[in-house]
Amino acid sequence: MGWSVDGAWVEVTLRALVVTRDEHVAHRTFLGDQGEWPFPINGRAYRIARVKTFWGRVTELYSHDGGLVPETARFVDKVLAPAGSTCARHVDVAASVACARCGTFACAACLGPDVIHCRGCEERLFAEANDRPREGAYFAPAALFVAAGGLVGGALGLGAAAASVAIARRVQNKPLRAVIAVGLYGLAAIVYLLVAAIIDGGRDALHR
Ligand SMILES: [Zn+2]
Ligand SMILES: [Zn+2]
Repeated sequence: MGWSVDGAWVEVTLRALVVTRDEHVAHRTFLGDQGEWPFPINGRAYRIARVKTFWGRVTELYSHDGGLVPETARFVDKVLAPAGSTCARHVDVAASVACARCGTFACAACLGPDVIHCRGCEERLFAEANDRPREGAYFAPAALFVAAGGLVGGALGLGAAAASVAIARRVQNKPLRAVIAVGLYGLAAIVYLLVAAIIDGGRDALHR
C-alpha cells in the first residue's frame, strides 16, 4: 500500500517515506517510530503522522488543510481534464482533473487531498479501507500456538492464521469472518492435540 498523490507515488520503504515520479526518487524523508514530519509533494505541503497502536505502527499522510489522504494498493496516475472542459458541479469553472475512479471532471475545489480523486470517491476509498480485514489481528492468536506448542503448534497456528486471512479477503461479513477464524484456530488446536498425543504414544511405546 502507498499513496497516489498528484501524479506521484509515495511509499514507506526502510525507515523512510519516499516520493517517486517516473521511477526515480524525487524526495525522501526519514521517519522515526512516532511523530510528525512536513512532507512536500510536487511543491505542495503535506504532513506525515506516525502513531503506535495495538495493531502496530500506523503511518498517515495529510494535506496542508488537514485532509487525510486515502491509501491505494498501487500507483494511480493523475488524469488531466481535456482543455475547455468544466467542473461537473461548477459549470462556470474550468475542470483541472478527471477523477481517476469515476471520471467526473473536477475543479481544484472539488478534488480531494490526493488531487486525483473527486471528494465522493475519496470517501468511498476510506469506506473500502474500513471494510478490509485487519490482517494482523488474524495472526495474533498464532503467537499463543507458538508459545504453547513450539514448532508443531506454531506451524498449525500460522496455518490457521493464513487460511483465516485468505478467507477474510473473500468474505464481506465481519462477524462471519470472526466465526471462520475461531473455527480454523479450533481445528488447529484439535490437530495439535492429536499430533501431541500420537508423539506421546510413540514415546511411551519406545520406553516399554
Ligand atoms: Zn470520482
Ligand atoms: Zn468544482
